[in-house]
Amino acid sequence: MNTRPILLNPGPGTTSQSVKQALLVDDICPREQAFGDVLDAIAGKLLEVGRGSKTMEAVLLACSGTGAVESILTSAIGPKHRVLILTNGAYGVRMKEICERYGIPFQSLFRFAEFPDQDVIREHLSRGGFTHLAMAHHETSTGMMNPVESITRMASEMGVATIVDAMSSFGAHPFDLDAQHIDYLASSSNKCIQGMAGLGVVLFRRDRLEELKRSSRSYYLDLYAQWESIQNKRQLRFTPPVQVCYAFLQALQETLEEGVEARAQRYHRNWKLLYDGMLELGFKPFLPLEQESRILCAFHLSPSPLRHGFNAFHDALLKRGITVYPGVIPETETFRMAVIGDLHPPDMDYVIQSVRAVLSNP
Ligand SMILES: *Cc1c(COP(=O)(O)O)cnc(C)c1O
Repeated sequence: MNTRPILLNPGPGTTSQSVKQALLVDDICPREQAFGDVLDAIAGKLLEVGRGSKTMEAVLLACSGTGAVESILTSAIGPKHRVLILTNGAYGVRMKEICERYGIPFQSLFRFAEFPDQDVIREHLSRGGFTHLAMAHHETSTGMMNPVESITRMASEMGVATIVDAMSSFGAHPFDLDAQHIDYLASSSNKCIQGMAGLGVVLFRRDRLEELKRSSRSYYLDLYAQWESIQNKRQLRFTPPVQVCYAFLQALQETLEEGVEARAQRYHRNWKLLYDGMLELGFKPFLPLEQESRILCAFHLSPSPLRHGFNAFHDALLKRGITVYPGVIPETETFRMAVIGDLHPPDMDYVIQSVRAVLSNP
């Protein structure tokens, strides 16, 4: 029997013991200098993880990942702007819903689970009228890795600013932001950085500061105001989750010690063990192999070897300390398994053994 919970939900992920222990710090007022040092260190390490120290700024917000995305959309896109949103999954659709809510001018492109065709994007952008392009990198709803590098390069060459939701890839994908064409990137503390939940992360290109300077559509999520507060006062504007910040710093340290490339390889190894094992047990993946992120996999529920449905499967695995996650793909019944977090090949072997045991003795 395994001794610690294995979370295969796509974040909050399984954390290391040292990240958990980092929560136990002495009480401190987050407006003290010592906490400013923590914020500085976090920002520095975020830029190191994304290799963007020369051109990018890092901002923290007290919110889940969606707050970081909402902060970008509401702060970067002004009244005269218009954004093209790639809606080929739940997180693209969420960006569209945020824009609808705030009355931000947008157009959406692509159906759920459709692989984004670059020529189609080019055609839309070349008709003009778009100042921004927004997309998810790893679409956590399907497990599809969108080709972010080539799409953002093209958009940038066409003079369009790029917004990337890299929630479930940042930390386990080798970004080289100083050399790339990503103007705004959103992530959070609790996915591939492997920290505790509670912090949204925005990295943005310094040359976008002018665009951000006018007031945001949101009061709390005003990206420029938060950046300015961190710059000038070394404080977040509003109360941060203090202990979560310490754990985040520890998690960032561990990310850099492992190395982003090595972490990507560990996730891919874990994913391969899971994928091969599940296929051998008769499960069918939702996506073609070449579109898989190798961070998460969505499997069909029907057909599948499960005879008692997803909930029974979930409950039986939970008894063995493993959490699996329902699917969100419209009109197709799926479930998801992610390898985000402090998980290693023996954990995957245990997962496959457990699935096999559940199938043979439900
Ligand atoms: C997890 C995730 C989010 C944010 O989810 P929260 O629950 O708000 O943290 C946004 N986009 C993607 C691609 C995600 O995987």
